Amino acid sequence: MWAPGDQVLIRHVLRGRVLHALPVTIVDARPDLLTTWIAPETPIAYPLGLENGTLLPLDRWKVELRTWFDPGALDLTVPGRAHMLRLFWEPHGGFRGWYVNLQEPLAWTSRGWDTTDNQLDLWVEPSGEVTWKDEDHLEQAVGHGMFSPEEAIAIRAEARRVIDEWPFPTGWEDWRPDPGWELPELPPGWDAVPD
Ligand SMILES: [Mg+2]
Repeated sequence: MWAPGDQVLIRHVLRGRVLHALPVTIVDARPDLLTTWIAPETPIAYPLGLENGTLLPLDRWKVELRTWFDPGALDLTVPGRAHMLRLFWEPHGGFRGWYVNLQEPLAWTSRGWDTTDNQLDLWVEPSGEVTWKDEDHLEQAVGHGMFSPEEAIAIRAEARRVIDEWPFPTGWEDWRPDPGWELPELPPGWDAVPD
């Protein structure tokens, strides 16, 4: 397993295409929870799959190289689960909220792990208010044949499960990154499948 400060590569893969690649730093790695930090200015590959707010068919998606924004984000990933929790902070400190990314359970690779983004997301305010995001994109993905109707039902069910379980706060809300960590690089071959 990994130690704090190790760097790993997290990717979103669909139909053999790498749509998103994030080199991140391991904060804590346990069999039941992977905690990873996306530092600001990290070079990433980012999916461009929308046109005028509507999801495009996969063959029209582009992948852009860019950098992650300030002030970074902390991801909590439970192996075997079909979601990940992402913690966001304000640029100068205060906790901003939790983003629940619905995604496929992770698959280990030589440099980290792969998943598939399942379009649907939840945003949870520190007050506990929940917003369902991108339900339209999930429907459009089904229309494009990216997911089956049955898969979409399972994706929504996982979102409801997270709300029922209510894993907030996570205990990581006051966490801060080690200032000594080096900024990761997007490694060569990040878009090769399999890694
Ligand atoms: Mg998402």
